Amino acid sequence: MPAVDAHCHLQEERFDADRETVIAQSLEKLAWIVIVGDTVENSRSAAALSRDRVFATAGLHPHHAKDFDEAASAAIRELAAHPAVRAVGETGLDYHYDFSPRPQQRRAFEAQLRLAAELKLPVVIHNRESDADCLEILRPHAPDLAGIVIHCFGSDAAFAEKCLDLGAYISFAGNVTFPKAAPLREAAAAVPLSRIMAETDAPYLAPQPCRGKRCEPVFVEYTIQRLAEIKGVSFEAMCAATARNAAAFYRLDER
Ligand SMILES: [Zn+2]
Repeated sequence: MPAVDAHCHLQEERFDADRETVIAQSLEKLAWIVIVGDTVENSRSAAALSRDRVFATAGLHPHHAKDFDEAASAAIRELAAHPAVRAVGETGLDYHYDFSPRPQQRRAFEAQLRLAAELKLPVVIHNRESDADCLEILRPHAPDLAGIVIHCFGSDAAFAEKCLDLGAYISFAGNVTFPKAAPLREAAAAVPLSRIMAETDAPYLAPQPCRGKRCEPVFVEYTIQRLAEIKGVSFEAMCAATARNAAAFYRLDER
C-alpha cells in the first residue's frame, strides 16, 4: 500500500514556481495527499487545488486566531460544503509564537471545535507548548467530534496518552527524525499502530536526510521509515497503518 501525506500546505507561496510539478510528483509516489488550510484565503486555495486524490481542509491556524470572526466562521462553513473539504482546521493553540493573544486563540479554537461538531467533520489540531489548555478546551467537545488528530505532534508520551484517551489520532511529521527528538520518539512508541498518522507539514520541517530544504509530500517516506523502526514493524506495514488511519480520519470512503 503506498504512503499518504495527511497534512501539507502546497498552496503556500514557496510552491508558486513549481506547484503542479510537486503535486504530480506527490501523486506518482503517494496514494493521496491533504492540503490543509490555515487562513480563510489559504483554505479557499486548498479547496481550489483539490482533485482526484488531493483533498483539503478549512480553518484558521492559532497564529491567525485574531482574524477569527463571524465572516471567517461563515467562510469555513461554506467551504465545508465542498466535496474535497474533509476536516475543519488546522486550529488549536500555539503558545510558542503567541502570534495571536492567548484568549483569542482559545476562543477561535473552541469556536472551530463547535463548528466541526455541527458540520460533522473531523478536526485537525495544532498544539505547541499549550498542552494543558489544549486538553482542557478539547475534552468537553471530544465526544461530539467526528474525529480528532493532533498534527505535527510535538509533546511527550504522557500528553500523547491523554490525547489517545480522548479518541485522537497522533500524527508525526519530519521532526520525529531529528537527532535530538528523543521525547518525540518515546511518544511515537506509546501510540498504538491503530492511532498513528504520518505527515510532512510541507513546506516546513523536512525530515533528517533533507533537513533545511523545502519539504515536499514525498519526504513523508523518511518519517514513515523512522516510525517503522520505532514501532519495530516493516516500512510497508507502517505505510499501510498510517494510510489506513488517515483514510479513516478523513473518512475517504464516505461522500
Ligand atoms: Zn500545518
